[in-house]
Amino acid sequence: MGDMSLVEEVSVARGASPRQHHVSISAAMLVLAATLSCGRGNPTIPSDATVLVTPASILLVGAGETLPFVAQVTDASGATLPLSVEWSTDDPAVARVAADGVATAVATGTTRVEATVGSISGTALLEVWVPPEVESYEPGQTHFGRASYVEYVVGELPIVISAPHGGSLVPDEIPDRTFGVTTRDLNTEELSRSIRKALIARTGRAPHLIVSHLRRTKLDPNREIAEAAQANPFAENAWAEFHGFIEVAEDVVARDFGSGLYLDIHGHGHDIDRLELGYLLSQDDLSRPDEDLTVQSLVDKSSLRSLAGTVAITFGDLIRGPASLGTLLQDGGIRAVPSSSEPDSGGAPYFSGGYSTTRHGSRDGGSVSGIQIEHHFPGVRDSEQNREAYAAILAESLVAYLEVHFGLVL
Ligand SMILES: [Zn+2]
Repeated sequence: MGDMSLVEEVSVARGASPRQHHVSISAAMLVLAATLSCGRGNPTIPSDATVLVTPASILLVGAGETLPFVAQVTDASGATLPLSVEWSTDDPAVARVAADGVATAVATGTTRVEATVGSISGTALLEVWVPPEVESYEPGQTHFGRASYVEYVVGELPIVISAPHGGSLVPDEIPDRTFGVTTRDLNTEELSRSIRKALIARTGRAPHLIVSHLRRTKLDPNREIAEAAQANPFAENAWAEFHGFIEVAEDVVARDFGSGLYLDIHGHGHDIDRLELGYLLSQDDLSRPDEDLTVQSLVDKSSLRSLAGTVAITFGDLIRGPASLGTLLQDGGIRAVPSSSEPDSGGAPYFSGGYSTTRHGSRDGGSVSGIQIEHHFPGVRDSEQNREAYAAILAESLVAYLEVHFGLVL
């Protein structure tokens, strides 16, 4: 994203209108113009003048990244004064700031950015986050993003699991989201860890696991960034880390296995206690008879798109035939839709897959296909015992699924 968009987004997040923001930029232009054309010192500074620096609080990610700060000097009546300011930071090891107010990130830390004219000054807070360099991601390592909002446990199976909605952190630096769904998927982080444990128990190897620890009131990783992070730079960074770690994991899987499976783990509150497997196919799509399900237009919109191109069975069978994930689970005693016994939701509410399944499945390319798994609560994620019993069945189903469809023997 561009730096200016960050400035504007933070201004908006802090309650200033875009119009006010525009005014402050114009004022800075005036200051600049006055400085350039006159080339002399500031005229007399009224004792009641103030300096406002925007953005007031901002995050820069990555050494060398830049961001323009703007200073507005006003008198007591609020009128802009055509005065030029001098810029400084109190920790140049964290960030430098040039004479035009453009800050450059140096190293992880926090510094004040100060604009001074005569004896008055205004300040802003600048945090720099430089992600640690990782030469290679080794199985068993755990990597955290900034402030430990996002966790990546590196695995070695061709399976990537993400848990976007089970987090509980509510840091003050991220205001509550004001639109979109904020309901937490209770126990889905714990469930994801149970699935990881069950796969280790079954195969001796771990899947990749990516967890958002932020409560959904602060971040919804399963949405486009605008709705997910609502213009807060700290939430935006966590969103980028969440998806970045999934992409790292999928790169490792593709490198080591050629293909693999991504699972986005959720919890639903629908009336019917059954898993809802999301392939980006709607209830309307699934209500078609099998022969109408196996059509290229549905393959092309599915999160199993690349897998569908490599298997010998029909697309309909891949989605709800005897070796579909839904039917394998159903054979293990877990009710799921779509499956051979529940080919569609029967008109009941059904989650077909969200942003992450779209982005990290194979609809738009890549060799890692994806499935969103929405879990009901009773018997599946309500207690540790039930989570572990279900996870063992899912692990067994996934081992069979990867062998039959991907040719990967775990
Ligand atoms: Zn969810």
